[in-house]
Amino acid sequence: MKYISTRDKNLEMSFAEALLSGTAPDGGLPVFKNFPNDSLNLNEVLDLSYQELAVKIGLLLTDLSKEEMKSCVDKAYSNGFESSECPIAIKSVDNQIHILELFHGPTAAFKDMALQLLPQFIDLAVKKQKVDKEVCIVTATSGDTGSASIYGFSKSVNARTITVYPDKGISDVQRAQMENCGFDNSDLIKVDGCFDDAQRAVKSCLADSEFRQQVEANGSILTVANSMNIGRLIPQVVYYVYSYAELVRTGAIKLGECCDVAVPSGNFGNILAAWYAKKLGIPFRRFICASNENRVLADFFKTGIYDRRRDFVTTLSPSMDILVSSNLERLLFGLSNDANLVKELQEKLVTEGFFEFDVTGSGFLSGCANDNETIETIGSFYKETGYVLDPHTAVAIKVVADLKTDDTPVLVASTASPFKFPETVLKALGETSNFSLERLADISRMKMPEELSKVLKEGFKEVTLVPEKELINVLKRDVLNHEK
Ligand SMILES: *Cc1c(COP(=O)(O)O)cnc(C)c1O
Repeated sequence: MKYISTRDKNLEMSFAEALLSGTAPDGGLPVFKNFPNDSLNLNEVLDLSYQELAVKIGLLLTDLSKEEMKSCVDKAYSNGFESSECPIAIKSVDNQIHILELFHGPTAAFKDMALQLLPQFIDLAVKKQKVDKEVCIVTATSGDTGSASIYGFSKSVNARTITVYPDKGISDVQRAQMENCGFDNSDLIKVDGCFDDAQRAVKSCLADSEFRQQVEANGSILTVANSMNIGRLIPQVVYYVYSYAELVRTGAIKLGECCDVAVPSGNFGNILAAWYAKKLGIPFRRFICASNENRVLADFFKTGIYDRRRDFVTTLSPSMDILVSSNLERLLFGLSNDANLVKELQEKLVTEGFFEFDVTGSGFLSGCANDNETIETIGSFYKETGYVLDPHTAVAIKVVADLKTDDTPVLVASTASPFKFPETVLKALGETSNFSLERLADISRMKMPEELSKVLKEGFKEVTLVPEKELINVLKRDVLNHEK
């Protein structure tokens, strides 16, 4: 598989090049040059374990050999997850709502699914390119990507992570995971701003070719762990395919019957992976894109206008507090197959703050939930089913309830453990004074993730607050300032 830029079809990259550059050299995003449409045989898929399926899909979507892919997959999923057999779980609350739990990894959010595998890909790419350089992984995070990339790369000998996060909006657990994890190859930058400020700074460092040359001369390679990196997307396709097979195996659907997918969305990476799964041959019917009050994506799929000219809102689902959803660019390319158009639209987004694109017939539906609705949903869903949702998943459940018109089963991606947001969740369940993880474990009858309670018990580290105006300079200085 070769990759091309969403903004220039002639700009080709190998898997290793795409992994190590993150964004494409022209500022676009790497996408598959020849997507293997309908190449999965559903009958065959039914017989595969999670790991076997990950290898199969990896071979379709990358240029790695079977041995290489198998070794990466083994290292990623054989420990660190609650079960060494299968990193995900599906909880069917009734015949129609099937919750795809993606939060059983080391940091209790879905990002572990990709960020345990991405470091294996990157280690391999470094070996293959025979570069004796340190890989510096910069990550902009609204909470979950940061910790997942810090944990994912913690054992990587060649890599160092720099994580940029906003001081407001992230939960105490998320903060503790980044500040208290105790890995020495992790640096943190806390910005007095929001996630989009962090993401913009990271993107502009990557797009600055002069700066990248300076970094290389200095003995490092710069790349990102954000979902702009194609190595993040590929592992995410696997769980959608696996879940479909699992619904067939459990009798929830018959082989070949369609189901809908609902995803709480922010940077649009997770739901995009479901769309790629459909292209591989999985009969997904609708893609329900759920937003919180930062409803740029929800509005886009309703109106065909993507408009970031609005106020940023800090919500109870911080990992979806985003106004510029990077991966939408990949969908625009996938739907239009027109790199010039994508380039035009992205430039218009930068200069004018909006663009228009006709999404009718794309299969995407959307809706949103505000904080009150999120809280109400956590409470009512618990009353009806006994299942405790995290605030992000609750947004998706609310939108599914609003949009459901028939009996087609829905696979709802659950992107975080409720234990990452104990206070919000416990309040929604009616608790007034005890917001501890232990209390949540009592009520939910779910197992408390041990790593979370461990990092929460330590005092917070002092991390200097960087003014938004100085962010780019501080980030660049940190990237250059290394010892190898
Ligand atoms: C990152 C994240 C999301 C958003 O996922 P995208 O791929 O960016 O759309 C939703 N929920 C949680 C808990 C997350 O960590």
